[in-house]
Amino acid sequence: MHLHDTKAKAVVPIAPARAGFLTIYACGPTVYRDAHVGNMRTFLLPDLIRRAAEAEGLQVRLVQNITDVGHMADDTGLGDAGGIDEGQGDGDDKVLAQAAREGRGALAVARAYEDAFHRDLALLNIYPADEYPRASESIPLMIDLITTLMESGHAYVGGDGSVFFDARSYPQYGELSGNRLDQLRPGHRFDGGVDESKRFHADWALWKKSGPTRTQLVWDTPWGAGFPGWHTECSAMSLHLLGDSIDIHTGGIDLRFPHHEDERAQSNCVTGSEVVRHWVHGEHLLFEGRKMSKSTGNVVLVSDVIARGFDPLALRLAFMSNRYRQQLNLTWESISAADTTIRRWRERVAQWATGPSAALSVTHLDAMKAAFADDLDTPRAITVLRELEKDSSVSDGAKLETFLAADRLLGLDLARDIGKAPATVEITEEAADLLEQRRIARAEKQWARSDELRDALAALGIAVTDTSDGQSIALL
Ligand SMILES: [Zn+2]
Repeated sequence: MHLHDTKAKAVVPIAPARAGFLTIYACGPTVYRDAHVGNMRTFLLPDLIRRAAEAEGLQVRLVQNITDVGHMADDTGLGDAGGIDEGQGDGDDKVLAQAAREGRGALAVARAYEDAFHRDLALLNIYPADEYPRASESIPLMIDLITTLMESGHAYVGGDGSVFFDARSYPQYGELSGNRLDQLRPGHRFDGGVDESKRFHADWALWKKSGPTRTQLVWDTPWGAGFPGWHTECSAMSLHLLGDSIDIHTGGIDLRFPHHEDERAQSNCVTGSEVVRHWVHGEHLLFEGRKMSKSTGNVVLVSDVIARGFDPLALRLAFMSNRYRQQLNLTWESISAADTTIRRWRERVAQWATGPSAALSVTHLDAMKAAFADDLDTPRAITVLRELEKDSSVSDGAKLETFLAADRLLGLDLARDIGKAPATVEITEEAADLLEQRRIARAEKQWARSDELRDALAALGIAVTDTSDGQSIALL
């Protein structure tokens, strides 16, 4: 398998540290709200890597963290300036802020959105990770990590009592994102002026001293009461659960800096070696051409997709119709088109399952596996399946077996309708007439006319496909 490695800035072969065994750490959700479809695209990435790896016979161990403390409102990607803005008020912690809005305890809020996260993963056929460590339950690991960093001179207690990472103690800082320390200016993308509590403007808080108003999500430490920085948790939990050589670390591209840059510095300084072998990032998603954000009211959830009558797996297919590292402009139209395709494929599979079985088409399946192994070229894999669907030289029984095998990579539940009675298609006189005209057009090789008539039938809610036995119809 090959994947695009952010640090190498190239597509590179993935050779696990331990033969036959692939470890993946995926940055998980901050559980203060429902994940939107852009988040879901990011969470699909490790699932696609897992399926591609398993198709190659690798055993996969995937860990995904649950952030339920320490993710500050200003830690979101570009809004954060390398850890410069580290507020301490209660309102700055995303989970606490949401708890205040909902008028219930922080952990009750966190567990509710964590449940919602698992429900959404299941709706998109994303295999569960092997472990979902929670930040709030991993505090001793973080204290150990910070203690080690202090003892080795990489961390210090700042003027405000928080513990900071000494960015200048790690000369390789910036290799992942390209943001080198000498380019990060004091106050860069930071409105509050220079923070006097730390030695260097790009240092970031590993542990934050809590103010007197913070009553929840606070722990006692050798440095006083406080709570962990968001970047600290991923280093502590990944090292603990996956060891000091992790094959792949995934996340959205907005996490590359500062989150992953800081995490890399912490983990590498603790171990004295390069912990993550490959960083793999998924690109941004736009919806109807706009960035999804609460302020513009442009946030779409999995539940919104279901409410419009679409199968949630239509989202999965719409995502896979684009490569993970291309920016994707998702639209209702593309979701609708994916929904139509999935329903048609399930119907075909059910139809083929009523006939004699046959050995699968190795050529098609190998082409799909090769596409997945080639930096998750899912659009190409889907094209292979579309070609197979139309290929009259392959028997229905072989198509059935190939579709079912392909679905282990795609995860679209294509076998769902097998054994169900097919929906009966009511043929009106108008539809019968169009079908007859189309049969004649095809006999006369008038392909453009045939396509026009297919569209006219689609407008009546009838999908028509061409088989070796003539036209076959199904409800759209
Ligand atoms: Zn993380």
